[in-house]
Amino acid sequence: MKTYSTRGRAPQVSISEAIAAGLAPDGGLYLPESWPRFSTADFDGADTLADVGQRLLQPFFAGDTLEAALPAICADAFAIAPPLVEFGKPGDFLLELFHGPTAAFKDYGAAFLAGCLAALPQGDKPLTIVVATSGDTGAAVAAAFHGRPGFRVAILYPDGRVSSRQAHQLGCFGDNVQAYKVDGSFDDCQRLAKAVLADADFRSEVPLGSANSISLGRLLPQAAYYAHAALKHWRASGHALNFVVPTGNLGNGLACLLAKRMGLPIGEVVLASNANTVLPDFFAGGDYAPRPSIATLANAMDVGAPSNFERLQFLYPDASELRRTLRAEAVSDAQIRAAIVRVRDERGHVICPHTACAAEVLDRLRACGEPGDWAAVATAHPAKFPEVVEPLLGEAIVPPPALAAMLQRPSHAQGLANDVALLKECLRNA
Ligand SMILES: *Cc1c(COP(=O)(O)O)cnc(C)c1O
Repeated sequence: MKTYSTRGRAPQVSISEAIAAGLAPDGGLYLPESWPRFSTADFDGADTLADVGQRLLQPFFAGDTLEAALPAICADAFAIAPPLVEFGKPGDFLLELFHGPTAAFKDYGAAFLAGCLAALPQGDKPLTIVVATSGDTGAAVAAAFHGRPGFRVAILYPDGRVSSRQAHQLGCFGDNVQAYKVDGSFDDCQRLAKAVLADADFRSEVPLGSANSISLGRLLPQAAYYAHAALKHWRASGHALNFVVPTGNLGNGLACLLAKRMGLPIGEVVLASNANTVLPDFFAGGDYAPRPSIATLANAMDVGAPSNFERLQFLYPDASELRRTLRAEAVSDAQIRAAIVRVRDERGHVICPHTACAAEVLDRLRACGEPGDWAAVATAHPAKFPEVVEPLLGEAIVPPPALAAMLQRPSHAQGLANDVALLKECLRNA
């Protein structure tokens, strides 16, 4: 399938070219030229996440260089199906997306993207994946590319704005992975990454690839776990499943909406933001007003200018239609803390600060009498955020085995000023 840029000033390219490029040459984001429509019967016989994902994504790859590799890419990236577990109250569920190698949902998209890039023909020089991260992306991308021949990874993260376990995780890979702690915010990291990726001259010198949620190779596979969870729920109950999705750059939330658009039995999609209220303000009727991010307890969602909003606006150019399609709610740090305690006491689940935003929004919806079956999306394991969760609950959170193993390894990150020229120097010399 062909893809085109949201800015309309770049040539159409194949899906594998769009995945390899990340950002379009006009600075826009790639979108597929059409969206397949599925019925639930189209997934008959598809039970595993890998099977559902393969059927969902096949139309995008039909006729593409990557078509033959798609089953193997899906089998690898979708090996671990996220459990949809009961969430302590009737009709409430938790979609646990944190059972991958780095204990956050980004493992799915990162593994799929890495599988695609590794299956494409490679140049003589290694491809450096430049990734800005507010905490979890960098580790997921590093895990997905670590030890893959022909690839290097450069992680940019905001110094002091990620949890100590996240920082340890980002710096512990070594080999073909280098972590840079940037003197700035996540938005600064993202600007640095976008600046080098948009520089054609530099890219001819140092071949670069992108792995942020702007990459179609991360966005599309995330629709697979929503499709899988919604189908499973539909088969068991005959009901559509509604979702509350913790949201920062809007990759995960958009993927949920795309699964719904493709015909999966998904009801409403509600975005849960932290105190960075750019999306809640827009959905409440205000203008879309990107702004600097502020630091919150849900740090992977500290985004003031959600990059995927450009895709959302392109897909729903009419703002009032868009506001009928999605809702967004803001959650303060105080409400995050209260939700972590309340969810443990009332629902018997220990959740991370990002998941707490979704749980808080679910509680608000239920308090207003919202009917139906709802899943709060659990985007990371609480053991990634012990500084926040442990003092609130007065108990130690045991890291899952993969995270525990990473915390045993030594860790090193290189300091970097918020300066594109310095980043280029690092990438040349890496
Ligand atoms: C990245 C991340 C989010 C936000 O996801 P987006 O796709 O950027 O909206 C939420 N929670 C966790 C734990 C994350 O790592």
